[in-house]
Amino acid sequence: MAKPTYQRVLVKVSGEALMGPGGFGIHQPTLDRIALDLVATKTLGVELGIVVGGGNIFRGMTVSQQGIPRVTGDMMGILATVMNALALESALEKAGVEARTMSALAMPEICETYERRRAVRHLTKGRMVLLAAGTGNPFFTTDTTAVLRAAEIGAQAVLKATDVDGVYSADPKTDSKAQRYERLTHQEAIERQLKVMDATAFALARENRMPIIVFSILAKGAIEAVLRGEGRSTTVSG
Ligand code: UDP
Repeated sequence: MAKPTYQRVLVKVSGEALMGPGGFGIHQPTLDRIALDLVATKTLGVELGIVVGGGNIFRGMTVSQQGIPRVTGDMMGILATVMNALALESALEKAGVEARTMSALAMPEICETYERRRAVRHLTKGRMVLLAAGTGNPFFTTDTTAVLRAAEIGAQAVLKATDVDGVYSADPKTDSKAQRYERLTHQEAIERQLKVMDATAFALARENRMPIIVFSILAKGAIEAVLRGEGRSTTVSG
């Protein structure tokens, strides 16, 4: 059996991944399946930090197009990430793993406030840590949060869960000529304006030499496969 390559990783789950077949919010069976996939990695002994997005509920950009100021919209998006993290925390605990949500913005009645040392302590105790509320600042994304937190907690890679099996030159759902990359550099991802993550996230990853592994979360057991160095994915590294 192949040994896992990593001791600690950060998994980024988009809000949209939690929607399942619906168009909004959280689809409970999908949430439970993702939780089971995360819990399955326990046998490998890899510590998991998790950043959850909020796009299934609110995105600042979309909200602002409807007439709400961008900063307010971003704060709504930030709150959406907290709701998703709490839902995933419950699903993880139901599946048998201790989990803690830590928010970048203080809301002590709801969850712990993010503090790097405390997050690392949870991880070393075998708990999964959900890093909620993004960076805590408007104009950022949870992809950037994922790279930032990965660097802070000393993770060896960001595992970016998407709905396709890697990075393509164009959207493979609409362009039959889209070419799939096995590996590419952060710089290439920025220069080719690949949409898989925003440029801020790639730039931060480049500066911190943080590998980003892009894979599809739709396949059951995909997270475990990536941790074993198996399955289909694209590695974006320096
Ligand atoms: N957001 C923000 N600052 C952050 C992280 C997120 O303002 O540090 C807001 C932003 O409005 C974003 C929304 O929260 O659109 C939801 O996050 P994101 O779009 O990254 O979620 P995902 O696409 O992963 O579901």
